[in-house]
Amino acid sequence: MIDCHAHTNMSYCAENALTPEIYSDLVKNNTEVDAVYVTDHGMAVYFPSEMAWSWQYITDSRIFDQHKDWGNRRLEEHLANLAKFRNNGVFPGLEVEMMHDGRLTIDDPFRARIDILIGSVHYLPIDIEEDRNLILSDWKRHTIELINSGIDVLGHPFRWINNQFPVSRAIVREIVKEAKVAGVAMELNGHFVVPTDIDMLQEAVELGVPISTGTDSHTIAETGDFTYHLATIRQAGLSLAEIKLFTPKRK
Ligand SMILES: [Zn+2]
Ligand SMILES: [Zn+2]
Repeated sequence: MIDCHAHTNMSYCAENALTPEIYSDLVKNNTEVDAVYVTDHGMAVYFPSEMAWSWQYITDSRIFDQHKDWGNRRLEEHLANLAKFRNNGVFPGLEVEMMHDGRLTIDDPFRARIDILIGSVHYLPIDIEEDRNLILSDWKRHTIELINSGIDVLGHPFRWINNQFPVSRAIVREIVKEAKVAGVAMELNGHFVVPTDIDMLQEAVELGVPISTGTDSHTIAETGDFTYHLATIRQAGLSLAEIKLFTPKRK
């Protein structure tokens, strides 16, 4: 299988010993892993740790502009480092967030230089004490805009909303439909397990939407582990052959 979502120590939340070399060795030694796409956080590339975790740039993208040159230099360096492992099955990607003005936490010219762009919701400026319907509609609006922002994969699509309250099958179907129209893959994420994964798989198969498999590894112990993916596919009453697995286009 291909791991379309993996972090290195470039991301503040990942283990320090998790380097591109680890993935290069994994592809070489583990016959189950065909390739790994390193998708560190846009927010960790573009902001110092304290700013990254403050999420202030989500509601004020001027902060992104202020840090853009600094982040671009870091991304340039990061991509040069990853390029050393390209022949060993390790490819460059990024996992980004969407700011209030619809821009992503990546400087646009870099989009053409990575093989996979994952868009994820990690934080939303929403009062979680609000009425459920309001939270749901705000999340939905954000997610649909993210789907249409030029990303390849919607990362852990229902994680944020599942953390607020249970999510119905109808909502899952609605988002999978949006992904289909936009030509975006839905991610089955092994790091953030959510109760809607089975519904998502079944809807994706029914609508012919590709599924992107990601371990979302943050530690060495998590690398190359597709146990959850395979078990969930089985639990959904599906076989691997029935699922349209997403394969990134290498540039
Ligand atoms: Zn994420
Ligand atoms: Zn991630």
